Amino acid sequence: MEKELVNVSQSSIAQALATDYFCIYYVNVEDDRFIEYSASPEYRQLGLPTMGDDLITFARTNFEEIIHPDDQERFLDCFVKENIIKSLDHCGSFAMTFRMMFGDVPTYVYLKITRMIEEEARHAVIGISSVDEQIRARMAYEEAHQASITYSRVAQALSGDFFSTYVVDPDTDHFVQYSATDEYEKLGVEQEGEDFFNVSRKNMERLIYEEDRDRFMGTFTKEKIMSILERDGSFTMKYRLMFGDTPVFVSMKATLLDDKHGRHLIVGTYNIDAQMKREQEYRERMAEARTSARNDFLANMSHDIRTPMNAIVGYTNIAKGHLDDRDAVVSALDRIGSSSHFLLSLINDILDISKIESGKMQLSNGPCDLGAIFRRIEDITALQAKDKSLQIAYQHDTVHHLKVIGDELRIEQVLINIISNAIKYTPEGKTVDLVAEEFPAAGNMNKYRFIVRDSGIGISEEYLPHLFESFTREEKTTVNRVQGTGLGLAITAKVVELMGGTISVKSTLGEGSEFTVELELESLEDDDSDEVRADVDVDLLGRRVLLVEDNAINAEIAAMILEEHGLSVDQAKNGQAGLERALEMGAGYYDAILMDIQMPVMNGYEATRAIRDLDGDYYKSLPIIAMSANAYDEDVQACLTAGMNAHIAKPFNPADLLKLLHTEIEIAAW
Ligand code: ADP
Repeated sequence: MEKELVNVSQSSIAQALATDYFCIYYVNVEDDRFIEYSASPEYRQLGLPTMGDDLITFARTNFEEIIHPDDQERFLDCFVKENIIKSLDHCGSFAMTFRMMFGDVPTYVYLKITRMIEEEARHAVIGISSVDEQIRARMAYEEAHQASITYSRVAQALSGDFFSTYVVDPDTDHFVQYSATDEYEKLGVEQEGEDFFNVSRKNMERLIYEEDRDRFMGTFTKEKIMSILERDGSFTMKYRLMFGDTPVFVSMKATLLDDKHGRHLIVGTYNIDAQMKREQEYRERMAEARTSARNDFLANMSHDIRTPMNAIVGYTNIAKGHLDDRDAVVSALDRIGSSSHFLLSLINDILDISKIESGKMQLSNGPCDLGAIFRRIEDITALQAKDKSLQIAYQHDTVHHLKVIGDELRIEQVLINIISNAIKYTPEGKTVDLVAEEFPAAGNMNKYRFIVRDSGIGISEEYLPHLFESFTREEKTTVNRVQGTGLGLAITAKVVELMGGTISVKSTLGEGSEFTVELELESLEDDDSDEVRADVDVDLLGRRVLLVEDNAINAEIAAMILEEHGLSVDQAKNGQAGLERALEMGAGYYDAILMDIQMPVMNGYEATRAIRDLDGDYYKSLPIIAMSANAYDEDVQACLTAGMNAHIAKPFNPADLLKLLHTEIEIAAW
């Protein structure tokens, strides 16, 4: 009875305990047989055999599918008979955790094999139970724990870069110091307390560098900082802190954190002294580089201006000393002429470069006649080529759309620069070619390709990359005494860039160079009527001109040119005198006024406005032409705005002045 009770109660106990398991197997390890003792409904659904021989085959054939792939090797290993025997003999049981797949869901299970106590050592029980909840809970805990370890380590590592970090409660203003360097601690500021903003301001009264105090005090109020933080999330401010007698640049950064731990203000101050000093050094170096570039520029200028000036002054003296030797005077005047011409082109180049470098160069796009450009280029360069006995060929028959929208002066300047160089750097007897081609582009646009090819001295490979830099010239050209400033190509390249075009060069030393410029320009309807423009008739005989000019030499030059062409010239020394003279001589007397701009008493703009304000149509339509050394586009515009009809830049070409006068007088006479 007693034995029965024991037996009954033992099997009930076993049954009761078995409910905690997915399954329990009884195993005869010796002859490798097993039988299922119990199984939960979900385990049963897996449809595994309830008894059989050969545990390893059973495990391999049935469990491969339902064990998580990463755990299979471990799982099968523990079912090898020798391993089971060894483990049971050694310690009576062994266990492992792995993932079983119930459908797609991996569940952590615990498998334990235990030697049966009352039986021989070769009998055992295998139990598999779920430990999913426990394992997942532990993993979540570890993950969270790991994250908080990571955060605090990051915070620790970062705070190492800071002189100090504080955590502030923005609602109560209570603050706690999170970290501080030894240096910072020596400043003697509070580690914890109330009223963070006011305490900080009080400390700064004594610690901040004098020059930064007002700025700091003006900004560091709770109201201002919080409103910036609410808007931007963070706030940064740079100032100098006094560490003893030494000011050190620091950056203070405040960040507002608002998360599940509440709202907190994190305020850190870190050392940016080295960085600020580096920036300061960089600024100083840049300033030095700018000064040195300016000095180089001035040295270049002074040299380049003095050279032709020297020729002008020198040959003027020679001419004076040989007045009775006609040939000597003519040759001196020729040289004065060519040096003056060079000086003028140098000055124009300098003006262009300074406009380009200050970003002020603007193109004035309007109707532009490529045909006229080709004709002028041929006129100018054919002469230059003839002087050097060069063969020059122009080919532009394939360009059909000659009327385009563009800046006529600048397109001409680009081509003249390149062709003049080709002529300059090509020895006598060789050739220079200009080829212009046209290709259709999108819409109304056409692509124009200009190729200037010479069989001249060529450009070395080392110099080619510097070709378009200002003030650079290849050494051999300076040695060969070819005159130049090294500005022409720099300007050319910039102008082409402003036009949205490209410029490229191929060159072989000793053989020649080829420059290619490509521009895309909008075509206009061709109007053949003004294609061949008749030369204007510049018969100005008997016309009366009032010349308003304060500079005696300029006045004399202009008066001589005009009088030589049969005009009668009156002179006035400033705008006021000009105005009075025009009024005094009355309506209809003068055919035109030539007006300087910068003059004492009354300048050219004021004088023009005053003349236009005089009573009568005559004074409204009398041609007034500005004759000024202020030659920028905006100067021309200012003249037109003041009521003048046209502008001619000083120094002027006599023929241009006469043509302009003629045109304006003709228009006014209509
Ligand atoms: P420069 O006033 O000296 O001619 P540029 O800027 O026009 O200035 O040209 C810069 C330099 O490029 C020249 O000094 C010369 O050395 C070289 N160069 C320009 N065009 C040619 C060319 N067609 N053949 C050989 N060298 C050239």
